[in-house]
Amino acid sequence: MKFNIIGSGGCAALPKPLCKCKICNEAREKGHPYSRFGCSLFLEDINLLVDTPEDIVHAINFSNISKINTVLFSHIDPDHTLGMRVFEHMRLNWLDVSEGKECTNPINVLAMEHVMYDLNSIKSKLGSYLDYYENTRKLIKRSVVKDATYIDDIKITFVKANFATVFVFEKDNKKVIYAPCDVKPFPNNDIFKDSNVLIIGNTIVGDVLKGGYILKDDNKLRDELFTMDEIVNLKNKYNIKEVIITHLEEDWGKSYDDYLNLENKYNGIKFAYDKMTIEV
Ligand SMILES: [Zn+2]
Ligand SMILES: [Zn+2]
Repeated sequence: MKFNIIGSGGCAALPKPLCKCKICNEAREKGHPYSRFGCSLFLEDINLLVDTPEDIVHAINFSNISKINTVLFSHIDPDHTLGMRVFEHMRLNWLDVSEGKECTNPINVLAMEHVMYDLNSIKSKLGSYLDYYENTRKLIKRSVVKDATYIDDIKITFVKANFATVFVFEKDNKKVIYAPCDVKPFPNNDIFKDSNVLIIGNTIVGDVLKGGYILKDDNKLRDELFTMDEIVNLKNKYNIKEVIITHLEEDWGKSYDDYLNLENKYNGIKFAYDKMTIEV
């Protein structure tokens, strides 16, 4: 399986609009890999995308992907869904529509039941966007996945984590976990054992953050997000060979170079950047 992290950024864009901090200025000047698109992942084998952050249109263009057949949604949070108008960019052809022809190759949209329910609630006064894309414009075809599904020879297991999802991709005894956001506490499940790679967001990187901010022991972020120590524990608990931290927030106050240096401190833990590829 060959994965491409087409967006490694967090909740806010990097560079963050209006911000003149060192990290944002550097990202503005140098571009990638210092700048980061919103958090998403692409699996090349089956042309599958996970999540549609607001800037997904630009991330897809930057990544040179030429085909997307399936989109998985991890959860409703806007930093993972509000680029869903990308379905129009990818499939809508107004000239055809003007002649009464709708799209004939809809994108398969998959999510767990609780996530699909949430996604369907994203609407305008005319109704749910996904209803419009599926029923009127035929751009997508939604399916709820209970536990697992196969696309070609790749098995994708969906594990519920609070109101979000952890995905497990399996092929030929290789296993990759993708847990982008809102996955703390991490679900207990033997399926995670002996994975080749865990790509995980939801992590605070370091105790000294943007502008020298010290993260105190009682800071609320520690309840919502994993610390690096907790990531190491998770890696050991499930005997995972390699962990890649994604969803890297501007608030962590770290540049691409800082993350490279940090990698030396950890065994088998790396930090994502846009267009990073992972092959297992
Ligand atoms: Zn900044
Ligand atoms: Zn998120």
